[in-house]
Amino acid sequence: MQVLHIGIDDTDSRKGMCTTYLGAIIVEKIKELGVNIIDYPKLIRLNPNWPFKTRGNCAISISIVIDNDKISSVKRIVKGSIKDLAELDDENTNPGVAFYKSFNIPNSLKDFSRKVVNDFVTIEEAEKLASKIDAEIHKFKLGRGVIGALAAIGEGLTEDYTYELIAYRIPEYRGTIRKLDKPSITKMNELTYPNTFDNVDLTSKEIRISPHTPCPILYGIRAENPVSAINAHDMVRTREPIERWIIYKTNQATDAHYIDVKINEIKLYDSVRLEGVVSSNPIKITGGHVIFKLKDETDEIHCAAFEPTKDFRRIVEKIIIGDRIKVYGGVKQKIGLPFTINLEKLEILKLAPLFDKVNPLCEKCGKRAKSAGKSKGFICKKCKKKFPENSIILKQKEREIKVGIYEVPPRARRHLSKPLIRFVNRRALPHSFECDLLYS
Ligand code: ATP
Repeated sequence: MQVLHIGIDDTDSRKGMCTTYLGAIIVEKIKELGVNIIDYPKLIRLNPNWPFKTRGNCAISISIVIDNDKISSVKRIVKGSIKDLAELDDENTNPGVAFYKSFNIPNSLKDFSRKVVNDFVTIEEAEKLASKIDAEIHKFKLGRGVIGALAAIGEGLTEDYTYELIAYRIPEYRGTIRKLDKPSITKMNELTYPNTFDNVDLTSKEIRISPHTPCPILYGIRAENPVSAINAHDMVRTREPIERWIIYKTNQATDAHYIDVKINEIKLYDSVRLEGVVSSNPIKITGGHVIFKLKDETDEIHCAAFEPTKDFRRIVEKIIIGDRIKVYGGVKQKIGLPFTINLEKLEILKLAPLFDKVNPLCEKCGKRAKSAGKSKGFICKKCKKKFPENSIILKQKEREIKVGIYEVPPRARRHLSKPLIRFVNRRALPHSFECDLLYS
């Protein structure tokens, strides 16, 4: 008996297919061979800022226990399914497969996987690693998918993970509007949240389980555990047939994409988590985006809450110079503009005092003095008493926001971003989590 890990990536295009669907087909075919699957198949989200991704930058892997004499049949099924189903006619689809026979995953493969989630790698790096650890790789066309294929095998999901149940459409329905019964989904969410999460936007009530692309996915239900995913799936009513469904174990909703850095270490397309002090007050720019600057001991950088982050911008607008905050987000750069962190979460650690300027009080008549003119101080209109310019009083104002952590709504959330409800529902709290308020 052997343990064989199978990684697959880059099989779809914007016009159709989905690597998770190919995974579901392959799982079914290899099960027919009497092969045992270890744990759940994995859906691994890779660097969300990678510019050449088709949509959500995901790769999949399946680990099986298998007799030596069945290995070649499994390989034939995997490669055959890619040939039959991948969008090979699209010039941007370059599938890759990796087969790795080993019970343990070596550290070099785990490190590679982390790098593909947090940074960039080249096909050459992937090939070099494969030959070093004796993994078998197959490239279709340019074969860029070998990167994701190896990365999906290397992510063991040993720390944080979630599940997604994905239901697929029958071919005749693909490319048409998805026929889902919204009230049943709202009800499902009421009954299963927070063991299922991000399936309905709690503020706007928007249903978030189905994509708008021509891919085979009818819907996907994100959940903390497989039982909740299946319960939720049983509650969803559809007005079109479901061809099949599968549950993936995944790094979605785990914050796996962030690296902790100082501002002067930031690179384009990083996803960063860093602490600093607000160095310019937020301003709203054309398009409804809210921008401010943040500095730490090394440098200064722009941060932005873009229009799709909706009410999250109201929080960002209330921070002021001097606030100590932690930001979470992806680093992007528009042509001609500086690096900007696209905010995904904002943690307010310490609020700076905010003051109102109040004119001095006349002790004689108890009235507030008025301005005596530019640079001329103040005067009490009633008793004509004069006050110097520096007699202005600073009165501390209550801040309109509280210390705590705030997040963008589900509609603007990246697959890898951990929703705040997951910090309280299941896993231990992170060190910096002192939350007065959960905002969504
Ligand atoms: P979908 O989510 O719809 O399955 P996708 O967004 O995952 O599609 P792919 O079609 O898989 O996009 O294309 C992404 C390609 O980029 C893959 O070939 C993958 O191997 C490669 N890739 C992903 N992340 C990185 C990275 N960090 N560095 C280098 N290559 C990467």
